[in-house]
Amino acid sequence: MAVNENEVNAFHWLMNMLESVEMGLVVIDTDYRVQVWNGFMENHSGITASRIRDRNLFEVFPDLPEAWLRRKVDSVVMLNTRAFTSWEQRPYLFRFRNTRPITGTEEFMFQNLTISPLSGPDGKIDKICLMVYDVTDVAAGRLALEKANAQLEKLSMTDRLTGLLNRGTWENLVDAEYERYRRYGNATSLVMFDIDHFKKVNDTHGHLAGDEVIRHTAGVVKSALRQSDRGGRYGGEEFGIILPETDANGARIICERIREFIAESTVKTSVADIRYTVSMGIAQLGDEPENYMQWLGQADKALYRAKESGRNRVVVYSDDSASSDASKA
Ligand code: GH3
Ligand code: MG
Ligand code: MG
Repeated sequence: MAVNENEVNAFHWLMNMLESVEMGLVVIDTDYRVQVWNGFMENHSGITASRIRDRNLFEVFPDLPEAWLRRKVDSVVMLNTRAFTSWEQRPYLFRFRNTRPITGTEEFMFQNLTISPLSGPDGKIDKICLMVYDVTDVAAGRLALEKANAQLEKLSMTDRLTGLLNRGTWENLVDAEYERYRRYGNATSLVMFDIDHFKKVNDTHGHLAGDEVIRHTAGVVKSALRQSDRGGRYGGEEFGIILPETDANGARIICERIREFIAESTVKTSVADIRYTVSMGIAQLGDEPENYMQWLGQADKALYRAKESGRNRVVVYSDDSASSDASKA
């Protein structure tokens, strides 16, 4: 049969193109023996076309998800239609190292995959084409965005200076705890506390040293609490703690521990060694408060009494203001 020279040339160019195109092209027969393996596949796998030709794909790549790929290919052949899978379903088919300079943070190449049926001259499907697209840039961008969003979400829930919950988040939890009490009636206590004479700390040692003291307080709170307890920064140098499953006596023990620890600490800042104290108010939730804000108000009232009666002390709220229950170590 005489072959037209133009056709030979066209075929040659076409092959050149398939060889150099920036995507992986693999043709297999129905027994998964490799028929075509283009330059992209050679470069990334380190296996030449001549070495892999006619070999079974799963023998050469034992790590391939065989059952999954067979299922996909079977349906492509049976339905005579293309199938597409994205990196989000399966990050890659062939584990290739990521060679992209900008997305060098990703360890391997993310891939999208198209599986196409190929029919011979008789119309029968006897080959399957796998097209492998390198989508590492897209995937890395998306993953970085998701990570940034998660960090942002966390940032917006916590206070930057102390890492404690910020006021809004903490108040929401107080509200939730209030509702939980309404339903189940478990003992639960709220603590509000405030650094004593903090203006003097700022005035004497400067705002940055003041920040160090606030951070120190937050550290003490964090290490004093159990997993279920929730500490928040309520305002400048005001803090709140939710103590679930804790009555006023239990709360007093925890608060005394925090108060004492702080009273005995020295915060070493670059300008001075600073000693300070805190005053604390406790309110165990009872039936009186009609909402969480009234509960907060009770703890705040107890805090006020602690200040009034000399500071560096813990006061438990009681509605009878005359018998305010103050203790000092
Ligand atoms: P008291 O014992 O009655 O609480 O006296 P105090 O001086 O601590 O009074 P108060 O609690 O009203 O003072 C709060 C001060 O805290 C006022 C404000 O300048 C300072 N402050 C608020 N937020 C910050 C902060 O983030 N960093 C620093 N360094 N100071 C803050
Ligand atoms: Mg204060
Ligand atoms: Mg204050």
